[in-house]
Amino acid sequence: MKKITIAIDGYSSTGKSTLAKQLAKELGYVYIDTGAMYRAVTFFAMQKGLIKANYFNQQGLIDALDQIQLEFQYNPVRGFAEIHLNQKNVEEAIRTLEVSSFVSQIAQVSEVRKKLVEQQQSFGRSKGVVMDGRDIGTVVFPDAELKIFMTASPEIRAKRRFEELLEKGQKVRFEDVYNNVVERDRIDTTREDSPLVKAFDAVEFDNTNVDKEAQFLQIAALAQEVLDQQ
Ligand code: C5P
Repeated sequence: MKKITIAIDGYSSTGKSTLAKQLAKELGYVYIDTGAMYRAVTFFAMQKGLIKANYFNQQGLIDALDQIQLEFQYNPVRGFAEIHLNQKNVEEAIRTLEVSSFVSQIAQVSEVRKKLVEQQQSFGRSKGVVMDGRDIGTVVFPDAELKIFMTASPEIRAKRRFEELLEKGQKVRFEDVYNNVVERDRIDTTREDSPLVKAFDAVEFDNTNVDKEAQFLQIAALAQEVLDQQ
């Protein structure tokens, strides 16, 4: 059967990656978490002292971009591909609230976006990919056969993210997680380069009151309809 490209975009912590992983598994497709790529660049900038509270050496990061090598390596135990920064697995290290607090600033930089978008497009060249992010249906794969745009109330998104961080043993306050979710959405939707916006041909899905399984079943059915039309 012909393979398609599935683009999943939406606000922070709407469960895009959970859905993308489920779909990739069901279809035998490759899953690419583009947020992990922006987070890995942020982690690199933090390690190099290029970004801290109230400080961002943007030109320093642009100059250092060719020192950043990103790769995804499939982890059979976890069932998805984990991100590696310069040959080191940073899948867990990039999931902290500190990385989240800087990532949207980093993602505004056009030179960063250009580098990552090129790599994302190369991953999807032979189709059979489920990619999640903020600009997949608008910029990375405007011709994707299926585009989903996910939303949910900020309260429920922050609650889900808060519980996820607690489960990982991170000491966080709900208020900080909530503020981060809202602030990232603000920066992501208002930046000049590739702002987060629903593609005109994306299917919007609000999962405020929908559980993961019901959501998966509905969207998997949608994917099947698109596949049947190929
Ligand atoms: O998906 P996740 O929440 O991990 O993404 C982290 C951040 O990376 C987003 O808040 C956004 O600033 C940035 N991002 C982006 N474009 C993408 C994916 C993520 O700007 N395609």
